[in-house]
Amino acid sequence: MSEIAQNLKQVLANLPEGVKLVAVSKFHPVEMLREAYDAGQRIFGENHEQELRQKVETLPKDIEWHFIGHLQTNKVKYIVPYISMVESVDSMKLLKEINKQALKNGRVVRVLLELHIAEEETKYGLTLDACRELLASGEWRDLTNVKICGLMMMASYVEDAEQIKKEMLTAADFFDEVKARYFADDDDFCERSWGMSHDYRIAVDCRSTMVRVGTTIFGERVY
Ligand SMILES: *Cc1c(COP(=O)(O)O)cnc(C)c1O
Repeated sequence: MSEIAQNLKQVLANLPEGVKLVAVSKFHPVEMLREAYDAGQRIFGENHEQELRQKVETLPKDIEWHFIGHLQTNKVKYIVPYISMVESVDSMKLLKEINKQALKNGRVVRVLLELHIAEEETKYGLTLDACRELLASGEWRDLTNVKICGLMMMASYVEDAEQIKKEMLTAADFFDEVKARYFADDDDFCERSWGMSHDYRIAVDCRSTMVRVGTTIFGERVY
């Protein structure tokens, strides 16, 4: 078994049933993604539009591609034809642009709203209040070609497991709030995307349904 296949197996063994694994393959060559694919992995996460496009062209068509990084509105048109989910929606403007391009392509794009809960200032995402405001506006209800499927967040990059846990539980509680208020009858609103290489085991204890793991599967990225 290849090293990547072994790593993959180990991560999967740590995930309870029902928790999906997004293999974060950014900056890694297609050969490495192919190894993961051959080991059965079908969901991959990327954060650069051009790199993603090249990989999509090279790799099998049954891969589900998730966009997980900051997405500029002018790049939306390039990824919408093939993207399965945009996990990093952090503004109404972006949501509208995804809807517009999805409409043009005759498809519905699944998205997650990205929350900013971590203490670090560099992270993107909506504050809880900004997210409340976005949903309260109701504008998203008119967007027929995007489907809001849940929430995404990154915890602070710290050693302190208690802090990570606190942030993830804040996100989980916020999910419940939003679910009850806006999506009570919507089974598609079900995803809680948190947990990366260093904290995905904490995440599964904090009600994550989707972890995004890169380094543990593919090794260190060479930028
Ligand atoms: C890179 C990245 C990951 C994966 O990080 P690892 O530490 O390599 O597991 C997860 N989520 C997002 C948003 C990322 O940009």
